[in-house]
Amino acid sequence: MKLLFEGDQGKALCEHCQQIVTTTYVRRDVPFSDGQGQAKEILVGVCDDCDTVVAIPAQSTPSIKEARKQQLIPIEARLPAIYLDVLDAAMHVVTKEASVQTRKLFISYYLRVLVETKSATRLQRTHDEFSEWLSKQMTCRQLTLSHSMKRLSMKVNPYVADDFIVLLEATHMTRTELLKSVICHIQEDVIEDRNAAIISDLQRLTRVAM
Ligand SMILES: [Zn+2]
Repeated sequence: MKLLFEGDQGKALCEHCQQIVTTTYVRRDVPFSDGQGQAKEILVGVCDDCDTVVAIPAQSTPSIKEARKQQLIPIEARLPAIYLDVLDAAMHVVTKEASVQTRKLFISYYLRVLVETKSATRLQRTHDEFSEWLSKQMTCRQLTLSHSMKRLSMKVNPYVADDFIVLLEATHMTRTELLKSVICHIQEDVIEDRNAAIISDLQRLTRVAM
């Protein structure tokens, strides 16, 4: 992609002149992509003959792209309370500023990483290991597993919702099982392994998203 400056010249088809014309890049107010309102002082190519805007370079498209009002999609599940405790503990390892809102960020990040690295197959194993560890803890501490349940409720953007569906299909898990397994995965990386790369990634993410 060539970076353009004011005064640069090019060629484009001018619909008004009905021919290929020479153009000059100048700053103009241009309507937003959804037609509502105008973006100010945007670098565009205008026809040298009739002064019509005939080219919008790649570097100008973000400025005129109207942020689509994203529809948020709910992901909800009732989980044994211990899972939310584990998630919150991992969040606290990453940042002392962690709050209920941080849960969505962590889960969303992990859904993305799991899809990108095609690691869905690891989820079941991670969850099995966690369950085993949990029952060992109960035995060692002479406790019985609590039946307390808690609701995990998040509203995510369409990209995150897509990742969630991809993983549901890849794992054949229910929503609840998938969320539990993702939390086990976070537990393994952050609490157990203290994975420095992942922790600093999550620290950056929580810092800018706060
Ligand atoms: Zn023209």
